[in-house]
Amino acid sequence: MSYLVLARKWRPSNFSEVVGQDHAVAALKNSVSSKNIHHAYLFTGTRGIGKTSIARILAKALNCSELIDNTEPCNACESCTSINEGAAIDFIEIDAASRRGIEDTKNLLETISYLPSSSKYKIYLIDEVHMLTPESFNALLKNLEEPPPHVIFMFATTEYKKILPTIISRCLQINLSSVSVNVISNQLGEIFSKEKIKYDENSLKLIAEAAQGSIRDALSISEKVISFCNRNLKEKEVRDVLGIPEPEIIENLLKSILDEDVTEVLSILENYGEYEDHEFLLKSLMDLIQDIAISQFEKKGSKNNINDFLKTDPAKLQFLYQLGLSNLKHFSLGYDSFSILKMTLLKMIAFSPENQKKNSLKIKKQDNSEIQWPGIFSDLNLNGISKNLLKQASVIQQENNLKLSFPKNVLSILNEDQKKDIEKSFEDYLKMELVFIYDDEVDSKLTPEYEKKNKDKGIRKNIKKTMEKDKNFNEIMGGLKVESVKFNKKNET
Ligand SMILES: [Zn+2]
Repeated sequence: MSYLVLARKWRPSNFSEVVGQDHAVAALKNSVSSKNIHHAYLFTGTRGIGKTSIARILAKALNCSELIDNTEPCNACESCTSINEGAAIDFIEIDAASRRGIEDTKNLLETISYLPSSSKYKIYLIDEVHMLTPESFNALLKNLEEPPPHVIFMFATTEYKKILPTIISRCLQINLSSVSVNVISNQLGEIFSKEKIKYDENSLKLIAEAAQGSIRDALSISEKVISFCNRNLKEKEVRDVLGIPEPEIIENLLKSILDEDVTEVLSILENYGEYEDHEFLLKSLMDLIQDIAISQFEKKGSKNNINDFLKTDPAKLQFLYQLGLSNLKHFSLGYDSFSILKMTLLKMIAFSPENQKKNSLKIKKQDNSEIQWPGIFSDLNLNGISKNLLKQASVIQQENNLKLSFPKNVLSILNEDQKKDIEKSFEDYLKMELVFIYDDEVDSKLTPEYEKKNKDKGIRKNIKKTMEKDKNFNEIMGGLKVESVKFNKKNET
């Protein structure tokens, strides 16, 4: 077949072919049919969503000699065909990114006073208009204040905020929105059917998601996929081509993070591979977290894969999302992407709100070095009964106060001798005098008994080992102290 890039071949040629921009199209058709023509239009929105395509359709409609239904360009008259072929004399397209200087603008503006050669209007389309220099903007502004009646300006920009308010106020602003995954999938389905390309629904969705709201990107991604898959698109192959991990991988990853199962997290990563798109994996994980958070908020059942996570603490989800977000920027800094991914996921475990809380329970020694409860428990010199009682306590130090929190039933049987025994053991170990406070607000997860019962020790050991092996670690952590890996000498061996 004669090869024409899909995005160009399927570029909309009239308003009815524009996809996903209903409001903008309605406003423009109305402007054409009511002959309420503005002298400047400003098209705004992210890249690849059809700003210049729609501007071109509008230009055709304004100059068309055989307008259909009073709104649509005919695509057959001399003016329409010359615009379609890029040969129109009265339709001047400029890319401000390459021609932004005052001289260029001056040359351009000098042609404004001449009447159009064969059409009703002389139309100037300036793409990426925010790139113009301030001098160029000023020259342009003069023309916008009193434009000759035969001149129409069309501006397109991805960076609306960089445009002077005085320019904006003289334009009819047409804001184009990102196109939804559903609309893009439907459009791809139609195009693929016409192109006689086989596909399954899930591959359409994968391409649409990867396109992030842009029909043009969806079509250029499709080009790549179609040639790899030999015009027969199946979900599995499309995933491979686009480097999109299976949803189960992402779900298992999140589950392991929530379980604080470092061994499993590392094994998932090893299986996923060192050479895959690690940034994409992190983004997919964040997408899943976001989906869960939204479902929790909406309080309604959703996809099966999300139902398993609905009971997760919302604050924890927010924490994981924030941490993912703040680490995404590291991918562009040239570090090894696999290390960044690994360290981000380990951080999600090490710095989770529960572990942060753990870090706040520190005991300061006289020389200002810090140790953590319950790490020091086995170093205390205690007799059998006192030791068994203290095993069930959580401990917090505030200045010279040491607060010992026990379960209610333990606190009620604790006698003065045992208290003295415990107090002496702390003072001997810390080599300082302390004021002791007792209460029954024990945090059962911060007791030596809990520590011993749980594989927590194993988790910390694993984190520490992995972190020590990674030379990028300190840079990635951005100077944060890794309090959670501090632990007692005896536990380490
Ligand atoms: Zn026409």
